[in-house]
Amino acid sequence: MANLVTLSCPTCGAAIRVAGNVNSLDCEHCHNHFILENQVQKIPAAEQDKLRPLVTYTHQLGQWLRVGDYEICVHEIFEEKIKNQWMVYANVEYRNQVQTTLSCRVGQWIMFDTENYSYDGVSQSQFFEDKGRPRLSERIIAPRTGVRGWLAFKKPLQAEMERLQFLTGYMSEHTVNFMLKAESTG
Ligand SMILES: [Zn+2]
Repeated sequence: MANLVTLSCPTCGAAIRVAGNVNSLDCEHCHNHFILENQVQKIPAAEQDKLRPLVTYTHQLGQWLRVGDYEICVHEIFEEKIKNQWMVYANVEYRNQVQTTLSCRVGQWIMFDTENYSYDGVSQSQFFEDKGRPRLSERIIAPRTGVRGWLAFKKPLQAEMERLQFLTGYMSEHTVNFMLKAESTG
């Protein structure tokens, strides 16, 4: 393999050696998978240790991930039955390490099932305050601050949830996919 390039993993900082003509990365250390905007050989040397992947796939919770200007962490995800409705809860946190404000929006989080149907977070207080889980609220996040809260998604009885997706914005999206099933990174 000619033209190997050494990059730093965007999540854990471990060295990743890859061919110059690829635009995806696997980290052997944290096992996250990344898709880059450009081929590795087109990345300027100064940016090789601070990559901004277009898409990140991860199976791990509790780690901070850089997504565009955002840093986010999903602390836990679990299912719980509320009366007769199965719910999926996620506890998420943002932190702002850049010099501009960022926006926190519930609409940045979408749950997908194994059939690729998507689910938006719900907002009724019975799923949050009544359970002692403060809902993630729409906020502006100032530099050097953060925000944390709960998301809840209604789960149809037969559905099996596959991934929780985070999008930075509506137009120029960087995304993270938190894979809930072991084998589905693709
Ligand atoms: Zn890594």
